[in-house]
Amino acid sequence: MSNYTGGCQCGYIRYHLSEEPSSPHFCHCRMCQRSAGAPVVAWANVPIASLTYEGAEPALYRSSESTQRGFCPKCGSSLLVVDDGSEIIDITLATLDHPEEVTPAYDSNLESSPPWMRWESRNH
Ligand SMILES: [Zn+2]
Ligand SMILES: [Zn+2]
Repeated sequence: MSNYTGGCQCGYIRYHLSEEPSSPHFCHCRMCQRSAGAPVVAWANVPIASLTYEGAEPALYRSSESTQRGFCPKCGSSLLVVDDGSEIIDITLATLDHPEEVTPAYDSNLESSPPWMRWESRNH
């Protein structure tokens, strides 16, 4: 029995995962950027059946023809993305209570990452 818990910024949405998230990764696509208001979003997959809520469930926004994104209707935190008919849901790693426990293993859609995200382009 795993014990992955998480929630939105305001605490209105609280969730529990009964399985370890898989395929943790960064997505740099424009849809994720605009949805989160951030240059990159860390995601991991879980079976929909392993995701339960303690109370309220996320509001859903249809971000493309076959995809919906879940967010807190009170504070706006981006929580999940799911394709129609899929048994798998992607959750945002940063909303886990302990995001350090799941390490992103690869990057997707890097071509949409702004150049200022490159460490070497900054002055330190
Ligand atoms: Zn919230
Ligand atoms: Zn994306």
